[in-house]
Amino acid sequence: MATFVTRAQWGARAPLSVSGNITPAQGGVVVHHIDAVKVARANHGDCAAQVRGIQNYHMDSNGWSDVAYSHLACVHGYVFQGRGEYVRTAAQGTTQGNDDWYAVCALTGGTSGDYDAITTGLIDAVRYGISRLRASGGAAQAITGHRDHHATGCPGNLYAQVLNGAVNPGGGPLPYPGVTFRQPPATVHASVATWQYRMNSAHGYSLTVDGQYGPGSDAACRSLQSNRGLSVDGAVGPATWGATFA
Ligand SMILES: [Zn+2]
Ligand SMILES: [Zn+2]
Repeated sequence: MATFVTRAQWGARAPLSVSGNITPAQGGVVVHHIDAVKVARANHGDCAAQVRGIQNYHMDSNGWSDVAYSHLACVHGYVFQGRGEYVRTAAQGTTQGNDDWYAVCALTGGTSGDYDAITTGLIDAVRYGISRLRASGGAAQAITGHRDHHATGCPGNLYAQVLNGAVNPGGGPLPYPGVTFRQPPATVHASVATWQYRMNSAHGYSLTVDGQYGPGSDAACRSLQSNRGLSVDGAVGPATWGATFA
């Protein structure tokens, strides 16, 4: 079980302003990491200073009202309170992402082949951050990676843990996001990108990962449904989602 660290406990500065304009029942939670270099601290005693540094950077260099994330999770199994529940974030890189989604950031980084290790404590902490945002913040069940919203490598090696559902508070597989994908008109939702990526990586399709459920996604869906003995309707509901992420 992860340990929660309040803003007072990590020495947060007060936010310059707070916007409650977030509709997380329409989105869910986005998983992030920090950077293209390793950042995880060897000793937990150094993690609070790291979070203060991130907050300072976001406020003083980026000009944001506060640290960008809803919560931050360290490899030692601690969750640092960020903006918290029912506060709009600045983390997702898109207006839609910030309007509808919370952000949980892992205090890890790295680039292909040289990532910080994903520890059991980190997974516990990410799960706890997500569970708080659901239980106290009204987040929908959907969990996505930052790359499902915006052209970025984030969350690095943690994205595999999103796809396999390890970061879900209840454990894997990745939960159905609560939105049925269909077209026309094309459903536009970050979880469509998660599904497109999974269709490519686990089932051999070659979809454009753009978060828009167009004719190519419909055709791939029908193909998967046919292969799995599901009713072939071209719509991704719970059964087809489950077959994609099983
Ligand atoms: Zn990110
Ligand atoms: Zn730590």
